[in-house]
Amino acid sequence: MANDNPLRVVTGGTLVTSDGPIRADLVIRGDRIAAITSSAADIADAERIDATGLIVVPGGVDAHTHFREPDPNMVEGFKTGSMAALAGGVTSVVEMPQASPTSSTGAHIREKRAALERASLVDVALWGGIVGQPPEQIQEMIDEGIVALKAFMPNSSPGFPAADDQVLLDTFRFLAEHDPDLPFGLHCENDALLTAGIARLQAAGRKDPLAHAESRPPLVEVEAIHRAIFFAELTGARLYVCHVAAADGLQLVKDAQARGVRVQAETCPQYLSLDHSDLVKHGPFARCAPAFRDRAEVERIWQYVADGTVDVVSSDHCGYTVESKRAGLDDIWKAPLGCSGVQTMYPALFDEVVNRRGLGLQRFVELSATNPAKVFSLYPRKGVIQVGSDADLAFYAPNASWEVRGADMLHRNKWTPFEGKTIGASVVRTMLRGRVAFDRSAGGVLGSPGDGRFLRRGYGTEGAGA
Ligand SMILES: [Zn+2]
Repeated sequence: MANDNPLRVVTGGTLVTSDGPIRADLVIRGDRIAAITSSAADIADAERIDATGLIVVPGGVDAHTHFREPDPNMVEGFKTGSMAALAGGVTSVVEMPQASPTSSTGAHIREKRAALERASLVDVALWGGIVGQPPEQIQEMIDEGIVALKAFMPNSSPGFPAADDQVLLDTFRFLAEHDPDLPFGLHCENDALLTAGIARLQAAGRKDPLAHAESRPPLVEVEAIHRAIFFAELTGARLYVCHVAAADGLQLVKDAQARGVRVQAETCPQYLSLDHSDLVKHGPFARCAPAFRDRAEVERIWQYVADGTVDVVSSDHCGYTVESKRAGLDDIWKAPLGCSGVQTMYPALFDEVVNRRGLGLQRFVELSATNPAKVFSLYPRKGVIQVGSDADLAFYAPNASWEVRGADMLHRNKWTPFEGKTIGASVVRTMLRGRVAFDRSAGGVLGSPGDGRFLRRGYGTEGAGA
């Protein structure tokens, strides 16, 4: 007996709303939040979901994933990537342009949309890639509903050529003139400096994991962030600095924000919970760009998370095969750049922000859901627990520790740079638009490929509050 508008209640939990944590029950009708009430005990004919002892937060919005579809090699894919997302409390992702081919035309965006609608278990918005194509092709992608544009300042992504300064300036100018609210996301590293750094360390015979970090120190990022902010300030377009791993770069962002420049910053758990010791320990499995930092840099980055300069924490999830990563065991330069992380990210962030650093549940929710939803035009349908929003929820056991093992990951390739680490909080249940899509004690993933929707730009204000 199908019911298109089932009534469900979430009882006994602590809800983290935009006003802060409250003890309240949640009423869900169909796919939306219908009410927040002190007690749903008297609501009859509703499916009851017990959240006693749990913290209920808006489902995570991971602004930076590489599930890479279409791609004949299928190193991740929307199905396995989104299963891992659900297990990590993530209900929406914003998927990067890397695929085969790199998403850089309207046709590519349509093809990618078809792939995600077929295979994803979570909702997906899309980035479009800037590869020096003519402006008409950029406009095509915007017309297909992408939520942001992405370009690389260095040549560190095979198949996704770097944008030189002319392409960057042209793109900033195009956006300032035609679409000033669309975020332009940049991978900020100086190509000449990192290329020279690699050559210098290779000439010295270095192949060890730390050589990777030494080849591209924070300065390599800071120069590029400085240049990117210059273009944003010059043109008035909107800059989004991806995966910042340099405290001095965050200071530049903070100073620019104070001058009124439209710039926002993202960082990732590998720059907040891991450091050089993890790079030494895991070698090629911890090789990514920017590189892991030393502990002093990590602690400095935390100051900018605490003061609000960092808006978003995303995974930068990359699903390489174990074999391709193992190629770097004796020679770090042979390992591809990127780490898996969509499943471990928000439990690790919850543990750091709430349990270890006392920054509070509200800050965790801002970094993991509200801010990314706002940046990518998915708010308030996504990223907040309020009446009218999609009933996307993650249920956390705030003090349930677990040891991370690659073998337990639901993404396609079973490795993680968090291998062996203990995370002090865990996701026990995840709901996507009113339905339980993941339940750790009921067999894990309950959703199906195709449950995920394409989130077109502006989704956040479509029918919000209705
Ligand atoms: Zn990335």
